Amino acid sequence: MNDNRYAFFGGQIVPIEQAKVSIMTHALNYGTGCFEGIRAYWNPEAEELYVFRLKEHFERLLRSARLLLIELPYTADELCAITLELLAKEGFHQDTYIRPLAFKSQPVVGVRLHDLEGDFAMFCVPFGKYIEKPEGASAGVSSWRRIEDNTMPARGKITGSYVNSALAKTEAMANGFDEAVVLNADGHIAEGSAENLMIVRDGQLVTTPVYANILEGITRATIKHIAKEQLGLDLVERQIDRSELYVADEMFFCGTGVEVVPVTRIDHRPLGDGRIGPISQQIYDLYFRIVRGQEPRYMNWCSPVYQHATQAA
Ligand code: PMP
Repeated sequence: MNDNRYAFFGGQIVPIEQAKVSIMTHALNYGTGCFEGIRAYWNPEAEELYVFRLKEHFERLLRSARLLLIELPYTADELCAITLELLAKEGFHQDTYIRPLAFKSQPVVGVRLHDLEGDFAMFCVPFGKYIEKPEGASAGVSSWRRIEDNTMPARGKITGSYVNSALAKTEAMANGFDEAVVLNADGHIAEGSAENLMIVRDGQLVTTPVYANILEGITRATIKHIAKEQLGLDLVERQIDRSELYVADEMFFCGTGVEVVPVTRIDHRPLGDGRIGPISQQIYDLYFRIVRGQEPRYMNWCSPVYQHATQAA
């Protein structure tokens, strides 16, 4: 039994039971949809639910939709307003995950992107940790390769592409790891199964570049910003070799779902000294204060749900 009672579907907020599609839906048959994963954090002191970097997520959704030739009748600002309305109606007082979905909704057979109707839907569910490993997670390099820009553009958050992520995640877990590190076809590092990754080498914070078939992560951009502003560290974006993980001082995964997860074992070896490193720890602490609306300087990244509801009333 789910805790959520509503969805945005067919242009309005409806009871979740009414948000259903036909088995003939194009996106269900061919993976022709795109989506976002957004988090909202409950702040008990402020009695407020803050949605983190809401507009950036919808800007990315609109870019993904553009890749798939899905035309949505909403602007990013309108999508933000719909999200706040849906969350206020659910009335959650706990951490929540928001899933907007733009998809080829037409019930028709035929593989193509053109001449197909699109639709937009969204639901929200209470959500905790994606990887529950406070002492640090383990990761293994996957035998699966990352999708490539000329086959399936990784910079779009496309539903069908997540078969690649699912193959890597399931293999990693079957092998006893918490998460996968996925390489590009050229054998260099792309990212995790559903998150970006960063390493620390000799005090330098390093991540893979946007042309390494990664999703251009919003958490990645957030960390780039706060590492510079708060820790005085420039994020270096360059190719990372597999063996660099074996000699790195620190490593962590970052993404909306995964949040910040320090990695302390890679391919059954200790990563660095096998404990969470100081830079990972500082970024971790800072990130969780920011998303929960506890850092006044970054409140412009946090959209309050209930203040919005009172203002609109
Ligand atoms: N890469 C992939 C493949 C992902 O699915 C995600 C999660 N959206 C990310 C990276 C991280 O992106 P973000 O920080 O915007 O959530």
